[in-house]
Amino acid sequence: MKILVINCGSSSLKYQLIDMTKEEVLAKGLAERIGIDGSRVEHKPSGKEEVVIEKPMKDHKVALEIVINALVNPEHGVVESMEEINAVGHRVVHGGEKFAESVIIDDEVMKAIEECADLAPLHNPPNMMGIQACKELMPNVPMVAVFDTAFHQTMPKSSYIYALPYELYEKYGIRKYGFHGTSHKYVSNRAAEILGKNIEDLNIITCHLGNGASLAAVKGGKSVDTSMGFTPLEGLAMGTRSGDIDPAIVPFLMEKEDMTLDEVNNLLNKKSGVLGISGVSSDFRDIEGAAENGNERAQLALDKFASRVKKYIGAYAALMGRVDAIVFTAGLGENSAEMREKICEGLEFMGIELNKDKNKVRGKEAIVNTESSKVKILVVPTNEELMIARDTKELVVK
Ligand code: AMP
Repeated sequence: MKILVINCGSSSLKYQLIDMTKEEVLAKGLAERIGIDGSRVEHKPSGKEEVVIEKPMKDHKVALEIVINALVNPEHGVVESMEEINAVGHRVVHGGEKFAESVIIDDEVMKAIEECADLAPLHNPPNMMGIQACKELMPNVPMVAVFDTAFHQTMPKSSYIYALPYELYEKYGIRKYGFHGTSHKYVSNRAAEILGKNIEDLNIITCHLGNGASLAAVKGGKSVDTSMGFTPLEGLAMGTRSGDIDPAIVPFLMEKEDMTLDEVNNLLNKKSGVLGISGVSSDFRDIEGAAENGNERAQLALDKFASRVKKYIGAYAALMGRVDAIVFTAGLGENSAEMREKICEGLEFMGIELNKDKNKVRGKEAIVNTESSKVKILVVPTNEELMIARDTKELVVK
């Protein structure tokens, strides 16, 4: 069975074609600058040379047409015809309270995803464009929606409710939803497999540390809390997002800096986080480099990032009553031994002991705690596409 996994942004379409018999990636790529000048597709067939196709793409449908042509192309294609693609799995950012798991896409589901657009105005509409494009170009191929929020729908109400007038939750659905759910689910399950344990017996803290970053408390395989909230802005300090701040800063800024709501929103989402503190970059590699060269604000940004992760680890340990494993994933979590060390430093009293030698690993699965550590510490590269393909397969072959 071959499954096409699609992840659409406002001007991009990421794809992977996965052969599910061996869970092998046949090809992957990215269409970018859709709807703007200079649109291009980078197509990487496995075992063949990468190709770049530069063509105008006025919308996601044209982009998908080019991707399909690339997949069936005699030279750089990986299948003989589209008939070989058995199903499509779509990443959808927001499923609100409507979707606690992945679903087969039908008209009703499409309507429900559209209704969630209020909660994710930047993400759900492009996700829908991808679904619509597939529906038009591959009308007979079953499609599945896999939601970033779904894994966190198991959170108890005490975790997801905000201390705001309750009516606002009822009226607008203002509550914590959490994101990166597909990643938290994948790495927590994978960690249990690596440890040879049943996930139902484990309390795991998963740390998805990339440009966007979040932690999740995963008890017995279920998310019981996570650091992102109503939107991805809450929680950790991120590449450009502030994470937790005193909400009173918003009206203060609007008054003192004469800023509009849009401007404050932009400041919190695009100009804050480690970029805001360091003034150097949102990329942790640049910040680590600057800190090594003595840049104090870059060092402060790294200190702030680590200290916020530490606080959430402590909070989730308290919430779950016991921690069996901590899992690091995503760009920074998988690759930065320095950041993992900084986060774990001083947590020995909780039974969290990192083995500095084993921790030198980069971008591959590893157990990196000491022999005596009560808590296992793992590096597990995330694989959201595979998780989406697995969910799609499960629903389609049912
Ligand atoms: P992601 O959003 O998961 O793609 O992660 C992107 C982030 O991971 C960027 O801030 C990168 O700087 C960071 N990253 C990737 N590789 C490394 C590395 N070797 N060392 C430090 N940070 C890294």
